[in-house]
Amino acid sequence: MVRLQTAWVLPFLSASIALAQAAPAPPASVFGYANFSQQAKWDSAFMAIPSAKLAGEHLKILTAEPHWASSPEDYKTAQYVAEKFKAAGLQTEIVPFRVWLNKPVKIEITAFDAAGNKLMSGPTPEHVDPKAYGGDPFQDDPRILPAFNGSSPSGDVTAQVVYANYGTLADFNELEKLGVSVKDKIVIVRYGANFRGIKTYIAQQRGAKGVLIYSDPADDGYAKGDMYPRGPYRPATGVQRGSVQFLPIYPGDPETPGVASTPNLPDSARITDPAKMNQPSIPTNPLSYQDASPILAHLDGPDSPRAWQGALPFTYHLGGTASVTVHMNLVQDYKLRTIWDVIGKIPGDDPNAWVVAGNHRDAWVFGAVDPNSGTAAMLETVHGLGDLLKKGWKPKRTIVFASWDAEEEGLIGSTEWAEMHATELSHAVAYFNTDVGVSGPDFGSSAVPSLKQFVREVTHEVASPKGGTVYDQWLADQKTEASSKRTSVHAEREPEDATGDVRIGTLGSGSDYTPFIQHLGVPSTDIGSDGPYGVYHSAFDNYNWFIKFADPTFVYEQQMARVFGIEVLHMADADVLPYDYRLYGHEVVGYVEAARRRASETKMQVDFAPTIAAASRFAASGNAVYKTQTSAAAGSTPQATVTLNTALRDAETALLNPAGLPKRGWYRHTIYAPGEYTGYAAVVIPGVAEGIDAKDATRTQSQLDALAAALNRSAAILEAAAKE
Ligand SMILES: [Zn+2]
Repeated sequence: MVRLQTAWVLPFLSASIALAQAAPAPPASVFGYANFSQQAKWDSAFMAIPSAKLAGEHLKILTAEPHWASSPEDYKTAQYVAEKFKAAGLQTEIVPFRVWLNKPVKIEITAFDAAGNKLMSGPTPEHVDPKAYGGDPFQDDPRILPAFNGSSPSGDVTAQVVYANYGTLADFNELEKLGVSVKDKIVIVRYGANFRGIKTYIAQQRGAKGVLIYSDPADDGYAKGDMYPRGPYRPATGVQRGSVQFLPIYPGDPETPGVASTPNLPDSARITDPAKMNQPSIPTNPLSYQDASPILAHLDGPDSPRAWQGALPFTYHLGGTASVTVHMNLVQDYKLRTIWDVIGKIPGDDPNAWVVAGNHRDAWVFGAVDPNSGTAAMLETVHGLGDLLKKGWKPKRTIVFASWDAEEEGLIGSTEWAEMHATELSHAVAYFNTDVGVSGPDFGSSAVPSLKQFVREVTHEVASPKGGTVYDQWLADQKTEASSKRTSVHAEREPEDATGDVRIGTLGSGSDYTPFIQHLGVPSTDIGSDGPYGVYHSAFDNYNWFIKFADPTFVYEQQMARVFGIEVLHMADADVLPYDYRLYGHEVVGYVEAARRRASETKMQVDFAPTIAAASRFAASGNAVYKTQTSAAAGSTPQATVTLNTALRDAETALLNPAGLPKRGWYRHTIYAPGEYTGYAAVVIPGVAEGIDAKDATRTQSQLDALAAALNRSAAILEAAAKE
């Protein structure tokens, strides 16, 4: 999906790609291993296999045709992935689900001035000059669907237009303060700052009739750099598709929250009232800036606040008058459609402890970066593990690779599969995600705190195409001033951090880790390698763009295959599960303290003391169990190790609140959830934080109590394990 698009200020391709990629010396010891030397041998045997050339071939084949979820072309990509899984020796199956999806039949957007003269009629097909800079060989494929938003209803609405900047809660509040109402208007907003579904969520709450979301050249177009095909940024006709599902309510098939939408699920088990689903009731459609520009140029009314000014060459006004009227006529074909996950297993000594690794396969159009750069890397990871199997390796724990479908429509393939396997996943030891695997050379990650140190250790072991290790380059990149100023598709991964170590972000939402960590409590990570990616969710995110601007020789594909594979190998084979709860406790103490300050600033009368005590106890138990982990790895009875590992895993599940969050019970994690009003960005200790935002003392107190109970549950498990 489903990330903040935008941009980059670093030179994105270094000439040093050909630098020797000498394998870094394996570390002498790694947390969780009694003796790392045997693992080091498997690791280096594995790392010799992922091939840059083969990754490039996978990418070319997977992105040859548009493969929107549920299309015949999407099924062909499922078959391709299944073949590769089988060839590597994985127990492979294609798992279908039946899910509620819209496909555009007719999309018409027309704008008129006060005299009734037509200002624009769209959407204009995505097209760049075929003669300039090599043009684009993919743009005229007749199978490209007109640009649309997943989860938008059909609708035929006509109204005056109001400009609402990024459509954040703050933007809508500012409009209200300025005396401009969006009631019965069509709201035009730009992409960026929050998840697009939230723009529609707030507009709908405030009585708007429809929403247009356009890509401003300030955010991922010519203000950032040259436009495609000359450069990597969004051209005038480039449109960002995407889902406007109300993701923070719940993801997945709109009709089956909490239930797997298997092909034989009876219709009686489905919700059929759209008002009860995670679906908007007002029509929403994306626009290119070529189509949005005549609308914005003719708005009158007050000047917009200066921070709302984009990069188009006129002053942006707020509108809300007769100067522009827009007619949106959207006809969507909604029905139950079949999608296909591909699942490949490597049975381990323990059939009940799963390590799950996944990437989605469906794309809005060709999906070279999003998501098939991740798929190509994952297939080379699988290739490498297949080679180990031939050499006689068998993992301790069972490995499950997943190629998800319909992620773009709202994390559907992963959510349905996770709901189907909730019992097995209640003791899965990790979920590793990659979505946008490679859009350039800069590695980034987000993770649950207990796995942050794990990700750092893995990247110490993998060579970077820029020289040194992935870790070295990651640290160097974060230290440059340019890096701290840029916004990227992975910006939410890198909050400011004073540890001096590489920053790893917080898991919000927008990709397939959501059902694992936030619904089921499976410790998760997300990795990717970023660049100047201005063509997100457009027809121009294709193989031609990729080999010009992302990774021409596929060496970053190879790097990602290795990092992903070492994550899987270490989690599958470690003696003691390598979760580091010390950092988790430290972070939670900080979250609770920050919430206490915010509550006291608003003069809210709530009692933080029991929650602060629980957070300190959780932190202390994390420190204690770390010592036990270290000594157990150095030598412990097998039974004691099993008991310790079970406790370490259960400590994460204990952080779930079975009742879920207020208004959105599907989200059960007490520490992390996508924000109700942000969508992508995580809200930490969400129940408490959103209670304070809502100025609701009763709700805040009950969420504080639930958080304290969860932290005490988790601490008790870790304390018992530390005493073993
Ligand atoms: Zn994606």
